[in-house]
Amino acid sequence: MKYIINLETNKKNESIEITNEVKDIISKSKILSGLCIIYSPHTTSGIDINESHDSHVMEDVNNFLLKLVPHNKEYKHLEGNSDAHIKSSIIGNSKTLIIEKGKLVLGTWQGIFFMEFDGPRTRNVYVKLLKG
Ligand code: ZN
Repeated sequence: MKYIINLETNKKNESIEITNEVKDIISKSKILSGLCIIYSPHTTSGIDINESHDSHVMEDVNNFLLKLVPHNKEYKHLEGNSDAHIKSSIIGNSKTLIIEKGKLVLGTWQGIFFMEFDGPRTRNVYVKLLKG
């Protein structure tokens, strides 16, 4: 089964929580046990799992990435968004989660985040569920 979460991002750099969207997909699927693959088919974004209880955590992650990978450096890529591509490589484009008893296995404080590094843009996140 394949599902797509459509997102409109608003800033150059931001993290958008998609935990509830993924949970809805899993409950509609009626899969009790299996894997959930979350994949972003974009070169300037990422998928992360981290604390959702305190929104400052993802803000700190984003601010750290901004310092680690500055926008204005001598990059070769002519589009002018190499910083976004590099951040995408650091965070990665997908995560695989476990489904048990019809629910995502997530820690108490964990949430799933789409990370935008070159917004605002229209983005699609693919969610693929496998029974097993
Ligand atoms: Zn580019």
